[in-house]
Amino acid sequence: MPHHQIAIIGAGTAGITVAAQLLKKDKKLDVAIIDPSTDHWYQPAWTLVGADTFDMEKTRRDQKDLIPDGAKWIQQRVQSLDPDNNSVSLNNGDVLTYEYLVVAPGIQIDLDGIEGLREAMGKGGVCSNYIDPEYTRETLKNFKGGNAIFTQAATPIKCGGAPQKIMYLAADMFKSMGVDSDTNIVFATPGSVVFGVKEFLPALMNVINRHGITVKFFHKITKIDSVEKKVYFTITATDDSNCIAINEKQSIGEEVTGQATVAIKYDMLHLAPPQSAPDFIKQSPIAHIEGPNTGWANVNIHSMQNPDYPNVFALGDVAALPTAKTGAAVRKQAPVVVDNILKLIAGSKADNQAYQGYSSCPLVTGYGKMVLAEFGYGNKRMSDPLISTFVDTTKEKYSMWLLKKYALPYMYWNLMLKGKA
Ligand SMILES: Cc1cc2nc3c(=O)[nH]c(=O)nc-3n(C[C@H](O)[C@H](O)[C@H](O)COP(=O)(O)OP(=O)(O)OC[C@H]3O[C@@H](n4cnc5c(N)ncnc54)[C@H](O)[C@@H]3O)c2cc1C
Repeated sequence: MPHHQIAIIGAGTAGITVAAQLLKKDKKLDVAIIDPSTDHWYQPAWTLVGADTFDMEKTRRDQKDLIPDGAKWIQQRVQSLDPDNNSVSLNNGDVLTYEYLVVAPGIQIDLDGIEGLREAMGKGGVCSNYIDPEYTRETLKNFKGGNAIFTQAATPIKCGGAPQKIMYLAADMFKSMGVDSDTNIVFATPGSVVFGVKEFLPALMNVINRHGITVKFFHKITKIDSVEKKVYFTITATDDSNCIAINEKQSIGEEVTGQATVAIKYDMLHLAPPQSAPDFIKQSPIAHIEGPNTGWANVNIHSMQNPDYPNVFALGDVAALPTAKTGAAVRKQAPVVVDNILKLIAGSKADNQAYQGYSSCPLVTGYGKMVLAEFGYGNKRMSDPLISTFVDTTKEKYSMWLLKKYALPYMYWNLMLKGKA
């Protein structure tokens, strides 16, 4: 039976970062990373790929080149967890045992979470940067005007700002293609605000008004009819709010189809699909079994340690942390997890509780423009002093666009995944 001192599930942003930091601190550690994927993707740049300003191939690297020296890569899929016996079972039938487990398998896209989504996706103008940003690019470039509808999911998703970033870039693109005057851009969200951290709202509202984007609040997508090219929403507002839309246009052709359902015809539709924890996590003893976090990995929100199994940690998208699921969040979670594991190995308590929910969303608001939203638990603004001392990150800035397009990808491949940032 294979055994490793530290087993890491997932060689994505979180798995590689944790492995690299552990081995940097102590190269004698016995670290195994379990992940079947031969590719590693820099997903934050998929927004730019969809908007035709970044090459998809530059978002991919061979996984084998990223596994840190000294770590063993087990190229298998984890099927199930058995933390009572400190073991995980793999899809080749092996059972691997460990002393410490780091759970970082990311998030699962649930194509069956919306009626008609599986059949509609990837053709006929139905696209998603979460699934195939190259098809988003093709859809935007071929758009001839009409209703361009962008939706936000009703589940937790990775990078909650991504559904609106691509919309702002699309709005710029439609202008340069000369189809903007024949286009209605609609942002339909089940939420009641465009963005949860109030300091960044004025800049985003400026962009929305600049493009005359219709925003529909309390609109939860329920069905796509790809034959009729109609998308259906349930209105989730419980009060009699008249204020469920801004920049409302009559020309969208919205149909009321039931007591609380509407349908809108689309000429293109961009989705953030429903997302959840991977099934093997939902079915495992480390998942929350009730409440709003059901299915997500249960952790102390400051130390990322599982409360029932002290030798198990979870971080990244899979973890039930009340903050935005981003790579930027992983960057602040990883050193805390690493420190706690090293403390346990040294025989002391895992008492590093330093993670305060930091996450950041580089809100691209157009070509050459970006607002850098950084925040922590409770949606409280939290800024990296290095940047905010010199730049007002609540305003659209060209310098922040350069950060997104050039500096962050460089940092990711050369510093973060090497355990240096
Ligand atoms: C369109 C888009 C835009 C984004 N924009 C930003 C942004 O601007 N800024 C930002 O910080 N973040 C952004 N993100 C989010 C960011 O990419 C994720 O939050 C981050 O990658 C999470 O890291 P992770 O390690 O938890 O998951 P991932 O990096 O997704 O890695 C998960 C890994 O686990 C593996 N795995 C899955 N199941 C198993 C299994 N059963 N057994 C073994 N291995 C398994 C997978 O193969 C994968 O390699 C964006 C994401 C998308 C899709």
